[in-house]
Amino acid sequence: MMHMFEDSYRHKGMRRNLVKILIDKGITDQAVLKAIQSVPRHYFFDKAFLEHAYQDKAFPIGEGQTISQPYTVAKQSELLEIKPGDKVLEIGTGSGYQCCILLEMQAKVYTIEYNKVLYRHSKLFLQKLGYRANFHLGDGSQGWPTFAPYDKIIVTAGAPNLPNALIEQLKPNGKLVIPVGNETHQEMLRISKDVNGKITSESHDYFKFVPLLGKFGWSEN
Ligand code: SAM
Repeated sequence: MMHMFEDSYRHKGMRRNLVKILIDKGITDQAVLKAIQSVPRHYFFDKAFLEHAYQDKAFPIGEGQTISQPYTVAKQSELLEIKPGDKVLEIGTGSGYQCCILLEMQAKVYTIEYNKVLYRHSKLFLQKLGYRANFHLGDGSQGWPTFAPYDKIIVTAGAPNLPNALIEQLKPNGKLVIPVGNETHQEMLRISKDVNGKITSESHDYFKFVPLLGKFGWSEN
């Protein structure tokens, strides 16, 4: 009988091709590429959609939400400059795929999801796969003060502007990677806080995310 989570040579080969695509698109962080090679992205897809799992594109996961495009996951992970042991806050658990990539990079992950169905599903699913993270159902636009400060914060939904609460929850020498813009496209910002608490911002290209909701996100009506 075939195991529910089968990761065959064929799947691994498809992932190697995906890694090549990401290298061609400019991803150089070896730890990121290794994590993409390690996490079976097809586990996050219904069997019928296997062919879609290793294409470089976003895909619907229900509840009107998406699993981010592999390039976007790789780019955000690279911009975060993850070091083993980093304490990372992820806003927008979604499918849990990005969370697994961060865990493979040996980060300690705190992840928040606003949608109850996705929160429940991803928490259970990652447990089944043997990935350990700290899950929270709530409004990530306000961060997660209980465990602050964080070395790194990643926002995986498009924000209308930069939430102050997130900057406050960054450690000195910390980095926040967040897409900011309108509903159709967002600029990927990397915010760095230096040892004295001084903030600088760099822009890294445009992306398209589903909207960040909540107090410091887009209103829901
Ligand atoms: N990181 C995810 C993955 O790997 O599949 C992709 C996330 S999806 C593009 C964006 C997610 O952000 C959605 O699941 C959405 O419900 C969630 N979201 C939107 N607003 C939020 C908020 N204020 N707090 C937490 N999650 C939020």
